[in-house]
Amino acid sequence: MEERSLNFLEEIIEKDLAEGKYKSIYTRFPPEPNGYLHIGHAASICLNFGLAIKYQGKCNLRFDDTNPVTEETEYVESIMNDVKWLGFNWDELRYTSDYFEQLYAYAVQLIRQGDAYVDDSTAEQMAATKGDINKPGTDSAWRSRSIDENLALFEEMRAGKYPDGAKVLRAKVDMAHPNLLMRDPIIYRIKHAHHHRTGDAWCIYPMYDFAHGQSDSIEQITHSICTLEFIHHRPLYDWFIQKLGIFPSHQYEFARRNLTYTVMSKRKLLQLVNEKHVAGWDDPRMPTISGLRRRGYTPESIRNFADTIGIAKRDNITDVSLLEFCIRENLNKVANRVMAVLDPVKLVITNYPEGQTEEFDAENNPEDEQGGSRKVPFSREIWIEREDFQEQATKKFFRLAPGLMVRLKYAYIVRCDDFKKDEQGVVTEIYCSYLPESKSGNDTSGLKVKGTIHWVSVPHAQTAEVRLYDRLFRVENPANEDGDFKDYINPDSLQVVANAYIEPALTQAQPGDRFQFLRKGYFCADKDSTPGHLVFNRTVGLKDSWAK
Ligand code: ATP
Ligand code: MG
Ligand code: MG
Repeated sequence: MEERSLNFLEEIIEKDLAEGKYKSIYTRFPPEPNGYLHIGHAASICLNFGLAIKYQGKCNLRFDDTNPVTEETEYVESIMNDVKWLGFNWDELRYTSDYFEQLYAYAVQLIRQGDAYVDDSTAEQMAATKGDINKPGTDSAWRSRSIDENLALFEEMRAGKYPDGAKVLRAKVDMAHPNLLMRDPIIYRIKHAHHHRTGDAWCIYPMYDFAHGQSDSIEQITHSICTLEFIHHRPLYDWFIQKLGIFPSHQYEFARRNLTYTVMSKRKLLQLVNEKHVAGWDDPRMPTISGLRRRGYTPESIRNFADTIGIAKRDNITDVSLLEFCIRENLNKVANRVMAVLDPVKLVITNYPEGQTEEFDAENNPEDEQGGSRKVPFSREIWIEREDFQEQATKKFFRLAPGLMVRLKYAYIVRCDDFKKDEQGVVTEIYCSYLPESKSGNDTSGLKVKGTIHWVSVPHAQTAEVRLYDRLFRVENPANEDGDFKDYINPDSLQVVANAYIEPALTQAQPGDRFQFLRKGYFCADKDSTPGHLVFNRTVGLKDSWAK
């Protein structure tokens, strides 16, 4: 692998290890199971698991499941599947909900120390007394409750004595603190809701800030890496750890990863799914890991992408063509070349005997010495791409037109003699003659032709459906535009070719198999395929066609 300089987290870790601050490092990836993972999460997964691998430490997968309302088992399963698919194994699988009893005990400890109190204020009252950056907040009337009263009330909250919103538990920090998050933050709220794992055992749930750092500490996480929006939470993270006297995990922030021409928040992705702008979380146009997988992306290409973009301390948006570059580079090495005609027109080789067929050896992958070869059948009638023929060749057109010659890949040179049109003026057949002495690998014709085209033998061809994808949005950063981001959806993001012709070797394709359709791009067999009806998704074209 190419040497690159250390990123800022690696620098911190190497210093911590060199100074003996930790014997080894421990990281975690902490998704909230409220949606499917996207490419931004993939960057975080690669970062957290990658650091653990690089420094021979450990990394946990922890479900941050403190919000019973939005979380579901379906999401938990998809997340585990995606992490494994990306090629990572967690050291331990944890759930924040496993710590509910411990977190409750921590809260009781804070109350006993005089560091937390039960507040009966309404949400409006709390907002009104919060102050702002220019104005200190004012103490709640309940701030001076006795420890005993707080202990009793908190127990009653847990026992279900109060309705949602009637009371909260707040940390007693400082209502005049310059950081608003430190102005007596809420640490527990009442929510009579069914939790996907703990069921109805709890009707009070800890807030993110009271769960995350403590969970890190319970798991002895050394480097707790999160995205930049949590930077102002760090003093609170440290405050709880210090007050509770627990393992000192440390929080570090890096910039969120964004991609052009898509959106990357689970809430927005959920809207696309619910409002049927896409076929599901794994629609190949989605920036989700499951969507990218179905589109034909490899785990390796996504890991490479994450590594290439690296980590930053400032928010930024990455050009989607970099992601496309990564998959193209990977598939170029591993995908077998095959022939498929997406917009077919018939070519008849008039001097090739009727009923005769022959087979040519076709190298599966010139980039892979072990790639082997296959047989491709040939006959008098073949399908070629409509765009490979012109009635009158324009300048620099080196394919088929009356009088021009072209090589049929793996086969012969043919010369175009004539063509036929229907009443609408659409070309229906092209007539050529072939040069028997020009057979590929054994060419004694002495002719040099400039163009080579792909084809599929008519009697051997199978039909397939091909789905061609374009960007899901028309603008680079839909989330940043005026109005609803959905107004910027590209109406032509999916084009379906109902009847493409594929060479017989392709009929064995299984969902997930990846190919290069010669001259057409990289394609992946879709899960909608059935034995009689194959469906292929275009992963990416052969060249960067987005270049402006
Ligand atoms: P979203 O806003 O997309 O719903 P989230 O931050 O709420 O994402 P979590 O499930 O909390 O999603 O994320 C799990 C981990 O992944 C967190 O550590 C989070 O910081 C990180 N993460 C989420 N989105 C990105 C992103 N776009 N780039 C990098 N890391 C991300
Ligand atoms: Mg989150
Ligand atoms: Mg979120």
